[in-house]
Amino acid sequence: MIRKLLQKMPSPFGLPQRRRTTPSVIPASQHQVRRERLSRHAVSVVEKLQQAGYEAFLVGGCVRDLMLDITPKDFDVATSATPEQVRATFRNARLIGRRFKLVHVHFGREIIEVATFRANHETQASEEQSRQSESGRLLRDNVYGTFEQDAQRRDFTINALYFDVSTGQIHDFAHGVHDIRNRLIRLIGHPEQRYQEDPVRMLRAIRFAAKLDFEIEPHTAAPIEEMAPLLHDIPAARLFDESLKLLMSGQGKATFDLLYQFDLIAPLFPDTDEAILENPEYTLRLVRQALDNTDARIAQDKPVTPAFLFAAFLWPALPARVAALEEQGIPPIPAYQQAAHELLAEQCLHTAIPKRFSIPMREIWDMQPRLERRSGRRADQLLEHPRFRAAYDFLLLREEAGEQTDGLGRWWTLYQDASADQRRQMIRELGDAPKSGGKRGRSRSRRKPRKPQSND
Ligand code: ATP
Ligand code: MG
Repeated sequence: MIRKLLQKMPSPFGLPQRRRTTPSVIPASQHQVRRERLSRHAVSVVEKLQQAGYEAFLVGGCVRDLMLDITPKDFDVATSATPEQVRATFRNARLIGRRFKLVHVHFGREIIEVATFRANHETQASEEQSRQSESGRLLRDNVYGTFEQDAQRRDFTINALYFDVSTGQIHDFAHGVHDIRNRLIRLIGHPEQRYQEDPVRMLRAIRFAAKLDFEIEPHTAAPIEEMAPLLHDIPAARLFDESLKLLMSGQGKATFDLLYQFDLIAPLFPDTDEAILENPEYTLRLVRQALDNTDARIAQDKPVTPAFLFAAFLWPALPARVAALEEQGIPPIPAYQQAAHELLAEQCLHTAIPKRFSIPMREIWDMQPRLERRSGRRADQLLEHPRFRAAYDFLLLREEAGEQTDGLGRWWTLYQDASADQRRQMIRELGDAPKSGGKRGRSRSRRKPRKPQSND
């Protein structure tokens, strides 16, 4: 009888309810989150906390993803226990976090993150500002809250679902199940206020929309274009982390297209944004093709590196800078060096690219002109270079985007597969070929010959 009644209702979450104090409780029979798909370690963490007398739930991305039949990246737990109480419950637990104290419970390579229920006590923006200076900040950051407050401080309705492993019920304070069924990204609360508190939520809206193939609900979408400049105040280290999640999670191209649509390229990659304005067709083709390659490699479980993507994002901005420096009388090679250095340094003010990525990125760039110089033993030396493969892939990418290279990519493709004899022949033929007047890479095409008699 009850089941019949429930079946009659279009969905218990069909209409947004006015009362926000009681969660909707969705019984196990009405959702598809199954215990078998959970990490057994996550289940054991929740059960242990419950046995110790605390409230504990799986929360956030893992519940959302399982409802959509996606394998979660990781499992997060929310609990009424304080971090110290959590730590006391497990032998393998470590307190972490500066902004918010969290507990990591370790099981070999798997880490279950356990967070105490928190309230949305203060704006994120002012936290960011007070970050370095305030020593009392930690106290303020750990304002604990109730179960419901914990739900209300989360970003999107679909990220505020709590799964109780012992009953199989989902607690839904914010109509997240309704939004999952209607494939909507919707902020909890007032959108302008929530973006003001933490502008990174704009990027997260885009990320989840692309990842899940959801629409951004109109009120959530509306303020983004106007509020996008708020992202300039976010620390560059956080934006770097976020940019990796946006571009390197397997839906990079779809994510980029949404970022572009919502005017969110400029706060992350101002020079790329500028290059798109100046040379839209070429720049967009290069960047989107690079993302396409990355997405395809991720789909095939092949390794990917942000160095390649960042190289592609900034490459179209290089020629104008080189040209400007050459205008000042700087010779081509130093002009290139200086332009590359400045471009990268400026990008790091927006997304702090660590050296382990920026160094290979520069190598990929620096090898582009070297790929043209193949005579003698140079070609074979380049083949041995640890960055050859990335540089060669990058050359093909430039060609796909429309750069004229006199068939350089094809030459290298053939050379790699050629026998020793064939290789010698290919190098000999290079010597015979008429000199092609340096009309190759795009970065060169704008170079004007300058003062060849200058002092070097
Ligand atoms: P995924 O890990 O698949 O990218 P996720 O939803 O788990 O997605 P996380 O960044 O791991 O995302 O965050 C875990 C949870 O913490 C989110 O589901 C959300 O409830 C909450 N959260 C994360 N960032 C914010 C934020 N900036 N504002 C409010 N809540 C947030
Ligand atoms: Mg997560």
